[in-house]
Amino acid sequence: MQDRFGFQVQATDGKARTGAISTPRGEIRTPAFMPVGTAGTVKAMLPESVRATGADILLGNTYHLMLRPTAERIDRLGGLHTFMNWERPILTDSGGFQVMSLADLRKLDEEGVTFRSHINGSKHRLTPERSMEIQRLLGSDIVMCFDECPALPADDARVAEAMRLSMRWAARSREAFGDRPGHALFGIQQGGVTEELRAESAEALCAIGFDGYAIGGLAVGEGQEAMFGVLDYAPDMLPEDKPRYLMGVGKPDDIVGAVKRGVDMMDCVLPSRSGRTGQAWTRRGQVNIKNARHQDDPRPLDEECGCPACRSYSRAYLHHVFRAGEMISGMLLTWHNLHYYQELMAEMRGAIAEGRFAAWEAGFHAARAEGDIPPL
Ligand SMILES: [Zn+2]
Repeated sequence: MQDRFGFQVQATDGKARTGAISTPRGEIRTPAFMPVGTAGTVKAMLPESVRATGADILLGNTYHLMLRPTAERIDRLGGLHTFMNWERPILTDSGGFQVMSLADLRKLDEEGVTFRSHINGSKHRLTPERSMEIQRLLGSDIVMCFDECPALPADDARVAEAMRLSMRWAARSREAFGDRPGHALFGIQQGGVTEELRAESAEALCAIGFDGYAIGGLAVGEGQEAMFGVLDYAPDMLPEDKPRYLMGVGKPDDIVGAVKRGVDMMDCVLPSRSGRTGQAWTRRGQVNIKNARHQDDPRPLDEECGCPACRSYSRAYLHHVFRAGEMISGMLLTWHNLHYYQELMAEMRGAIAEGRFAAWEAGFHAARAEGDIPPL
């Protein structure tokens, strides 16, 4: 077992790359999709089921865990891996993004942000130093810098101000993180959809020096075209020999487009969240299991899928349990969606390794253009 954090690019095809991140808790094959375990669980899934879908790493949310059950309690109980029964790598976000999107009465100053819990109104403060402390108490393998991400659209002056504050916080995060062999600290590039600001941010981060670099501030309302516009240049501004992580993305076609542009890691609540609302993602696009067309359909969701929902259950059953509000509905659809996402990543890793990414991508779009199988 590797006792240090490392990253090797094993093959490239165009800008797309495949490789592996090594950590003391196991290898992360890239490009990697990280399921989101918000409050110490990937909702509706046992950890061993998440692993069975092919996930090498999970994401945990600092904001949720610091409020409940608190980082100090998780630390006393042996750290997040033990607490949630997931022994493989965990990446934690810094809390910054979720404070901005979820907390009440936020007040931002040069030192950090003060806010009230969305759960019970209790008052809290996050600073770069406190965020590093919380992520250390959780036992996170990949720690994210504390940053400020403005919602888009925002004017350039506002985006520049937030980016420069985030760069000062990145330096403080680096200082507070210290030297922790086997654990990694990632910097987060900001700058909205403005190339000059992205370049300034990348330069500031590289001067500080991180184990990996995230592209932040995207998938916040700018749309896919604008996001791809940024991804046409942003990954190239970051060091080639370190992992590049696109935060909070996305739909399957967003993920494919990001990998094509040189991104190595992604996370999103979409496959698990949509599993609980009756939405399934398949190679032929999105299927709404609520739809009455499925109620007499004995066929599986996807004939080619090897997940338990597709192997052992019909569309008619999945439709029925969703309509009846049965818990197994969210369990089966979440399992299917996570399985599909991991298969997608595995297919891309194989295609990049064999130098056939463009042909693979054409097939991916062609299958989606066909749409779902016709009703019986
Ligand atoms: Zn399936």
